[in-house]
Amino acid sequence: MPDRADALVLFGATGDLARKKLIPAIYQLTAAGRLGVPVVGVARSVWDDEQLRTHVREVLGARKDTTDGAVTGELVDNMSMISGDYSDPETYRALAARLADAQRPVFYLAVPPSVFGDVVGGLASVGLAKRGRVIVEKPFGRDAKTAAELNNCLSAAFDQRDIFRIDHYLGKESVEGLLVFRFANSFLEPFWNRNYIANVQVTMAERFGTQGRAGFYDGVGAVRDVLQNHLLQVVALLAMEPPIAQDADAYRDEELKVLKQIAPIDPAQTVRGQYVGYLDEPGVRPDSTTETFVSTTLAIESWRWAGVPFHVRVGKNMPGNATEAVVELRRPPRLLFAGRDAAEPAPGLMRFRLGHDDGVTMTVQTKAPGSRTIAQPVDLKVDFETALGYRQEAYERLLDDALDGHRHRFAREDTIQQEWRIVEPILDMDTRPVPYYKGTWGPDSSAIKSWHPVGLQTG
Ligand code: NAP
Repeated sequence: MPDRADALVLFGATGDLARKKLIPAIYQLTAAGRLGVPVVGVARSVWDDEQLRTHVREVLGARKDTTDGAVTGELVDNMSMISGDYSDPETYRALAARLADAQRPVFYLAVPPSVFGDVVGGLASVGLAKRGRVIVEKPFGRDAKTAAELNNCLSAAFDQRDIFRIDHYLGKESVEGLLVFRFANSFLEPFWNRNYIANVQVTMAERFGTQGRAGFYDGVGAVRDVLQNHLLQVVALLAMEPPIAQDADAYRDEELKVLKQIAPIDPAQTVRGQYVGYLDEPGVRPDSTTETFVSTTLAIESWRWAGVPFHVRVGKNMPGNATEAVVELRRPPRLLFAGRDAAEPAPGLMRFRLGHDDGVTMTVQTKAPGSRTIAQPVDLKVDFETALGYRQEAYERLLDDALDGHRHRFAREDTIQQEWRIVEPILDMDTRPVPYYKGTWGPDSSAIKSWHPVGLQTG
């Protein structure tokens, strides 16, 4: 049985991730009666308890979904602050004194990766690592070598079972829903293979650019930011075999297996793009070759998928926000009915919408009205919010899991190593990315000729 944590420590409580994701998530957990542990903020900024509470009230007050004053009051009464430098042993002595009664603290490292070593060492030096859990955020290194170094750093102080690596896509209800849709419905399995599926197309598009963080983004790029982690997770969920049991390792063993079957990306099949205007943004190197768009085709060398291309693309400043997987079925063996425009009928599609307007759409052929027997596509569509109601935010679920010690929605070291292996050939390419205009689907040359249009999110 997992053991529930009895304290939550937020290193980097003053930062961007805390403001955007963590503070709202602990508000939601408080509202649901699921937090129930003291929260300690840690930062170099010299803040006292009251300054942290004021900050939290401001963060929550500026949002539409965190407005219940009683919940905010209950949360901030539970919060306190420790200020100090991460290289100063006194910071950890003060934290150990504050956590004297905590048997199972959870430490969230919402700080730049450059200070992970100091923090982990500091926690170990006062005996807190031995009885605690640690949560780290992607990026997990910059390549296979630095990911292994990060893992060595964390596992020198924490048991592997107590290291929780967040790729928040694994916490999204819509992404997890892919597994349920595939393995809780028997109708899908007979055609979910190379015999019936022609290709799979996964798109993660953002309407916005670097949102004032171009200096940070320039050292990262689309491959490291999204392709190596979120996008490969989605491909793994679409392609993996059913887990043999419900425990965390059974599920992640299957994920590992399918990742191992993906060949390293072929640079010749890859197009990297950079939107026009990127080089003028503050913090971007004038000769930067960082990609803000990438499209490529993955080959999965398995019995189920051999020969089925998995086309993937991610990009900034696209025509809208969309996170979608479109599965194109093979055409019937005999084309009996011309389409409305007298061409052959369009192929059947299954479309998994994974963003805000999540749901599933199946595009199937029906008889067009009228005297001629010709095919016309119609959508069978379900919108999950309408059908199912409110679903939790990823960070709320992941924090709750980490407090409980549930590991199945967190990335494992061996899956991360596989992800780096797959993208390695297209890391740090010094060739100039192809320019594309904002508001387009990337460079012209990027399109496999047959990308299906994606449904843009309305939210
Ligand atoms: P951030 O705002 O840049 O930094 C968090 C806090 O760390 C800052 O408020 C600052 O607090 C402290 N800090 C900044 N630079 C530091 C340095 N050189 N040495 C020591 N402390 C420093 O970072 P973030 O965006 O919140 O991200 C936190 C972690 O989550 C990072 O590992 C990041 O890669 C990851 N992440 C963030 C996002 C996001 O949406 N923001 C998404 C995915 C992953 P004080 O000066 O008060 O100590």
